[in-house]
Amino acid sequence: MANLISIHVLHCGCIRVSESVPYGNGIGLTNTGKQLLAPDRDRVTLPVCVYLIEHPHGLILVDTGWCRAISPRGVYDPRAAEKLLPGHMAALFHPWLPEGAAIHEQLAARGLRPEDLDLVLLTHLDPDHVAGLCHLGGARRIVVPEDEYFWSCRTVFKLRQPRSLWQDAPLERVYYRGSPLGPNRWAVDLFGDESLVLVNLPGHTDGQAAVLVRSGPRFVLLAADAAFSPRNWEEHVTPGFGFSAQWQRRSLDWIAQTAKDPGCVAVLCSHDPAITPRTIAF
Ligand SMILES: [Zn+2]
Repeated sequence: MANLISIHVLHCGCIRVSESVPYGNGIGLTNTGKQLLAPDRDRVTLPVCVYLIEHPHGLILVDTGWCRAISPRGVYDPRAAEKLLPGHMAALFHPWLPEGAAIHEQLAARGLRPEDLDLVLLTHLDPDHVAGLCHLGGARRIVVPEDEYFWSCRTVFKLRQPRSLWQDAPLERVYYRGSPLGPNRWAVDLFGDESLVLVNLPGHTDGQAAVLVRSGPRFVLLAADAAFSPRNWEEHVTPGFGFSAQWQRRSLDWIAQTAKDPGCVAVLCSHDPAITPRTIAF
C-alpha cells in the first residue's frame, strides 16, 4: 500500500542554550537568570525543527523556525537578535539561521510557495516557533490553540513571547475539548477523522500543543517543547525552562506511555540534536 503521510523534518535555525534548558530538572527565576548569563562553555547547540507534512488533507507546516531578520548573514548576530527579541531572550536563545534555512528559503528549494500551504500549525507562541510567520504570507490557514493565545496575557509569557512576531498574522484559534488524549485530557481533532490531533501538553507553556499525526493504526507524535529528547521521559528529567514543573512531569509521563504504544512510529522533539533533517513516511 502506498504511504499516506510523509513528514519532512526541516531545521529552520539553531539555538545555543545553557545545558540546563533541556535538562535542568527544575524551573524558576534563579535558573532562568543563570541560563541568560551562561558562558559559552556551558552551552549546547540545538536545532529548531519545523515539520512539513504531506497529508491527505493537504500540505501542512508545523511551526516556522527563526526569520531571516534575526540572522541576516546566516550567523549569530546579537544586534539583529535584539531588534526582534527582548535582550534577555536574545541572551537565552543565542539564535541564528544558516543561509538557505529560513522556512521560505526551504520551501522555495522544494518548488513550493507559502500559498501552497493549506495549514500552518503553531504548537505554541515562543519566538523560535513563530518568528518565521513573516515569511508565510498567503498560507491558507494559520492555527494556534486558544489556550496558548489566551494565556499570552500572563506577564511571564509577555516576557517570553514578543507579540510583534505574531500579532499581525491572521491567527485562527481552535479550542481544546474533552478527549482521551493528553495528561489533562484536552485535545482538538482538526479534521474530525483523528488524522491530525492537537494534544495539549502543558508545562512548557499553558496551551502548548503536541501534534499527533495518524495514518490508520500508526502515528507520529510531534512533542514540541514538552521534551527536548527521549532522555527527558526515559530518565524523568524535566527541562529547566518552562512554566509549571508539575505539568512538565505529567506531560512527560504521557509521552512515555504514548511512546510505548505499538502504533507509535516516532516521537519527535523540536530541539533534539539527534533528529537530523529526514523524511518519515508511514
Ligand atoms: Zn522551542
